[in-house]
Amino acid sequence: MARQHTLSIIKPDATRRNLTGQINAKFESAGLRIVAQKRLQLTQAQAEAFYAVHSARPFFAGLVAFMISGPVVAQVLEGEDAIARNRAIMGATDPKKAEPGTIRAAFAEDIEANSVHGSDSVETAAAEIAFFFSGLEIVG
Ligand code: GDP
Repeated sequence: MARQHTLSIIKPDATRRNLTGQINAKFESAGLRIVAQKRLQLTQAQAEAFYAVHSARPFFAGLVAFMISGPVVAQVLEGEDAIARNRAIMGATDPKKAEPGTIRAAFAEDIEANSVHGSDSVETAAAEIAFFFSGLEIVG
């Protein structure tokens, strides 16, 4: 296993319900270190760019509207096998299918307002981290 960085986003449904600390505690207790973090309000253009891979999907417009409906917390998580580990901690996209104990099982409202984003590969992690952070902002 390699030490990796992955991009995490605490989504607007979770910041609205003041869940940032509870979600961060799940990352930290699972052995992931938060090595960069910022709270920001995405613009429509930024949300469309971040989710460009989904632009042809029927849920794209709704997803973008949701992602700009309130602040998000963008983070870089560091750890052994961090990309897959974070995906396991997050749980399935649809909270009805998420394993008990995962963030989405505990906190997600529905398949769209599902509390967290996590990169799904080494390549997307690198691109997604660069979308939000400069190297100077990542302090391991
Ligand atoms: P993830 O990697 O688990 O976040 O899932 P995807 O990359 O497939 O989808 C990106 C995001 O789009 C998800 O986290 C949801 O917020 C949203 N999403 C995915 N599938 C659906 C869907 O069928 N309906 C709606 N409304 N939103 C969806």
